[in-house]
Amino acid sequence: MSIRSRFAPSPTGYLHIGGARTALFSWLYARKHGGRFILRIEDTDLERSTQESVNAILEGMTWLGLEYDEGPFYQTHRFDRYKEVIQQLLDQGDAYYCYCSKEELEQLRAEQMANKQKPRYNGKCRDSAVPHGEGMPVVRFKNPTDGVVTIPDLVKGEIVVANKELDDLIIARADGTPTYNLTVVVDDMDMGVTHVIRGDDHINNTPRQMNILKALGAELPKYAHLPMILGSDGARLSKRHGAVSVMQYRDDGYLPDALLNYLVRLGWSHGDQEVFSLDEMVEYFKLENVNVSASTFNPEKLLWLNHQYIMNSDPAHIARHLSWHMGELGIDPSEGPDLIDIVKAQRERSKTLVEMAAASVYFYKDFDAYDEKAVKKNFTAGTEEVLMRLHDKFSAIAEWEGEKLHQIVINLAEEMELNLGKVAQPLRVAVSGTSVSPAIDVTLSLLGQEKTLSRILRAINYIKTQINSGQS
Ligand code: GLU
Repeated sequence: MSIRSRFAPSPTGYLHIGGARTALFSWLYARKHGGRFILRIEDTDLERSTQESVNAILEGMTWLGLEYDEGPFYQTHRFDRYKEVIQQLLDQGDAYYCYCSKEELEQLRAEQMANKQKPRYNGKCRDSAVPHGEGMPVVRFKNPTDGVVTIPDLVKGEIVVANKELDDLIIARADGTPTYNLTVVVDDMDMGVTHVIRGDDHINNTPRQMNILKALGAELPKYAHLPMILGSDGARLSKRHGAVSVMQYRDDGYLPDALLNYLVRLGWSHGDQEVFSLDEMVEYFKLENVNVSASTFNPEKLLWLNHQYIMNSDPAHIARHLSWHMGELGIDPSEGPDLIDIVKAQRERSKTLVEMAAASVYFYKDFDAYDEKAVKKNFTAGTEEVLMRLHDKFSAIAEWEGEKLHQIVINLAEEMELNLGKVAQPLRVAVSGTSVSPAIDVTLSLLGQEKTLSRILRAINYIKTQINSGQS
């Protein structure tokens, strides 16, 4: 039997870290077993679902590279089918109309609480659905009253729930719209889902869903309930722990591969390996190796992994993602040095692509102002002379090549009996506006002769007007 897994987000917000991890595990399982991965948008909550959230989920999936084989299917397109199944359950005696009013149910609940009983529907309309009250009836599923449901959970092991713990769930509201548990069941059945991989916040729904599936004569899927992701304080991961939206990580300069690598390790391990390529994840992934207990989200570790990926991935791959960030800064990277060379020069010192982009703008366009500290420290009396001489020497060379440029800087330091730093640092500030850049020969090679010369002249002018005049 071929494996079919799915990711079924409700579009009530952005794609968050927890959802992305669920999607990843479901995707990995399908990819590992030659299966099919389905995307289903559970948008039946018309008040909370938005097109914007649908777009955000699709954008997140695309950015992460979690491609789906089927879908996206939208539950709002399937209302007729849900109605049909509700009617089928009514016809075969597995569901019934319930006329109990809100007030009646609230009273029942209050009594049960007062008697220290678990609040549950008492089955008043189950056997004798006598219409009473004014509103339209809801439809309830007739849950079996005896026996047990055994969940074949591939992460947590078998979970056994007694049917008497489950009450008769509403499957259609008074306005006829289906409820969550019904739509999930119908979709999992119709879409031939063999593996339901989802967060363990759904574990209480599972025995109810299995009972409905049985009533419909459907084959039961296997289940894998993934442990929660917690913030550093042990509470469920939420906004107050920092960024939880997948696209926020894109904006903050993370590579999708690094985020996926981090997510796969949240609740899954393969020995003590930390860094996995996507292919390795697919190769090693096993639901049996998913942790049973919750995992804690650690932003520092994610940042560390991102730096690992920036240092070790194919520069062309990083350049493709860096290009997006350059665009955010108003730079068209085709109008300057090759981004691949920028990546090679900057990757050691960049933990994120946001840092790398910000530190690379001056290769493409003139900086607005010098870094004040850098100026104070490096533009001193005598700097003008150093820069003049560098300008002369750099103007004279025909071939703009790193080794030659390096030699010029060394020679000048010797000639003027200065430390290398007293030549290289002012030069660095002159061409980049800051005191931090790749090695000076690399910086100059990337910048090219024309920009180097014009920036040296700009610095000389600046020193004349701002520094020397201030000193006199
Ligand atoms: N739509 C549900 C959610 O976003 C998931 C349902 C499921 O995976 O069965 O929590």
